[in-house]
Amino acid sequence: MRLRTFRIGTLFGVPLLVNPSWFVLAGLTTWFLATQFYPAAFSGASRWTHGWMAGASVAAFFASIVLHELGHSVVARWFSIPVRSITLFLFGGVAQITREAARPLQELAMALAGPLVSFALGAGFAGVWWALGARADRGIDYVLVWLAVMNVGLGVFNLLPAFPMDGGRVFRSLVWLVTGRHGLATGVAAWTGRGFAWAMVGLGGLAVLGRDVVVADSLAGGAWLVMIGLFLENAARQSLLQHRLVRELARYRAEDVMVADAPIADARQPVGQLARGVLELNPHAVYLVSDGERLAGVLSGEELRAVPVALWDVTPAGAVMTPRESLRATARDRLVSDVLVEMESEELRHMPVVEDGRVVGIVARDRIVGLLRQAGLLGQVRT
Ligand SMILES: [Zn+2]
Repeated sequence: MRLRTFRIGTLFGVPLLVNPSWFVLAGLTTWFLATQFYPAAFSGASRWTHGWMAGASVAAFFASIVLHELGHSVVARWFSIPVRSITLFLFGGVAQITREAARPLQELAMALAGPLVSFALGAGFAGVWWALGARADRGIDYVLVWLAVMNVGLGVFNLLPAFPMDGGRVFRSLVWLVTGRHGLATGVAAWTGRGFAWAMVGLGGLAVLGRDVVVADSLAGGAWLVMIGLFLENAARQSLLQHRLVRELARYRAEDVMVADAPIADARQPVGQLARGVLELNPHAVYLVSDGERLAGVLSGEELRAVPVALWDVTPAGAVMTPRESLRATARDRLVSDVLVEMESEELRHMPVVEDGRVVGIVARDRIVGLLRQAGLLGQVRT
């Protein structure tokens, strides 16, 4: 099950996405703070005061989560790993980096950056409270202390050794550092994460049944633990699967999957001549488009199909192709796993394989997807 995420803005060029579950939790938390927590903690104040305290707390905590994710993103960029987006959901956020770290210490730094930001924020909020006199008779005092505790809690929660959470990544980078084997490290970290998740589900279940299990002592606490456990289990399973996909694709290089003999079309040729009688036989047809002397672009079956049949004879190939400037070349010996990651992050449908400045073939996305399907890995993946 995956709900659609919305884009709420861009921060330093990184799209900020929000999963609808976040709004539910933000609403529930605001309600809980305004009607239960703050009235109990600061009973002298009015309902309005409790209301703004709750609103300010949730808004500032939201900003704190964004800063935590930005911490990961800034370090990723430092190592020249592009960040595709930051998604905020029920238990915090995820910075979607486009490829894995090349070295264990890079991953260690990237994983630690988020929790360190959270600890710094916790210290910062506590510091402001202290600077304001460390009192307990104004709304702002309670808000600052709540934010300090929540940020430290967020940092600690993220450091749980449950891959793919930050702590699991720290654990993986250490296993990787010691063994020198990334694959083994991922397996160990992901299985540890799953074990951890099942332990949470088990303990939560016992608490729901009324047993005292120390970490959760009520029905609500137990249910919460079960939910987090299931969420973590799913995340660990997805990471294992992703790892298997990468391993499968790392067996091939660009030259193994490229179309080496793509026909050449002229940029002025109407698309009808290229599509008619061709797409029916080969829906994944791909053309190199020439402007008479050199490569002007690449035209794929997908782009041909986007042109309405009525316009086929008046639309030149040059008008609908992916022009040369927008193409991203790759090398013959590049691993297909890396090619796919680049296609995914840049939203490319094909990449020309270039050797000595000459196009020697084209790698198309559907071809790679076909390989995964053959390997029996696609039934399990959302595409
Ligand atoms: Zn994190």
